[in-house]
Amino acid sequence: MITKTFFGSTNEGAKVHEYTISDANGAYVKILDYGCTVRSLVLPDKKGELTDVCLGYDSVEEYQQNGGYFGAVIGRFANRIQGGRFTLNGKDYQLAVNDGPNHLHGGTKGFDKYIWEVKTIGEDTLCFFRTSHDGEEGYPGTLTMYVTYRFAENALSIHYEAVCDMDTVFSPTNHAYFNLNGHDSGSILDHTLQIFSDTITANDDCCLPTGELMKVEGTPFDFSSGKKIGQDIAEAHQQLLNAKGYDHNFALNNGGKLEKAAMLTGDLSGISMSVYTDRPGIQLYSGNFITDRQGKGGAEYRIRHALCLETQGYPNSTQHPHFPSPILKGNQRFCSDTVYRFE
Ligand code: BGC
Repeated sequence: MITKTFFGSTNEGAKVHEYTISDANGAYVKILDYGCTVRSLVLPDKKGELTDVCLGYDSVEEYQQNGGYFGAVIGRFANRIQGGRFTLNGKDYQLAVNDGPNHLHGGTKGFDKYIWEVKTIGEDTLCFFRTSHDGEEGYPGTLTMYVTYRFAENALSIHYEAVCDMDTVFSPTNHAYFNLNGHDSGSILDHTLQIFSDTITANDDCCLPTGELMKVEGTPFDFSSGKKIGQDIAEAHQQLLNAKGYDHNFALNNGGKLEKAAMLTGDLSGISMSVYTDRPGIQLYSGNFITDRQGKGGAEYRIRHALCLETQGYPNSTQHPHFPSPILKGNQRFCSDTVYRFE
């Protein structure tokens, strides 16, 4: 069942609505048309008690002021582009820079900061869409993007589609912050995480991939057989020091097919989440830059109270020709799927 309620108004006076998709067993997801933001994701834990596993806020004002991209769709480009510069078909482009000298998560006003149009499809599906004009945040071409969320059988599926009228670069994601013990339950360091990857893209101290592909074996980045997130996070490994924890893209070997990329389990709730994607990468971000603030219902959010598993193209792939190409050809359709399945 889908219901729609008024959520609040932006500083500019635009109305924001919230859509709730609920299933027959009481599980539900709440999504705002502002940024296609997943505000809550509520599922039964091992005792059958409903647990909200996503961090979020109770007002539009907090979403507009606080940053952090809580639950939002990121566009046109997830994560960082060095200097916000790239060359495409012999032409140089300068994007907005909003993270020191670099471009982060689509720029100053990325897709997370727009109110999207929405169409309800059946009982469990919502399709959000918006058109980004030629030159928006410096990107070439007029691009229309569709984000379709389906919530059924304890899985949230996200289908991304986009078409641009000329060649551009494109790499969307969703920036949900998960705490599988409950959004208000503190540190995620005792969650167990497995990532089906043997390589990360190494970062410099601005969290920008340098181009180096680093094998995870024998390093704190080896999650291939599953371990607690906190187990090695304090090691003096240069990559951990660079990012103040995990904030890295793990390379996936799915060949563009939807495959399981990661699995996360909450130690207290027993809730586990499998992440499936057809994208070439997944960002593990261990909430290193969450600054102290109040979230939904007065919950205290602090550093490492949540983590993100963002399916994506490689960050900074505009700079490194040996990375999977982020180019979306003009008038060709971009299609991609991500599934978060809960047990
Ligand atoms: C990035 C972090 C950033 C966070 C919030 C993540 O996707 O990797 O470096 O701080 O988003 O902006």
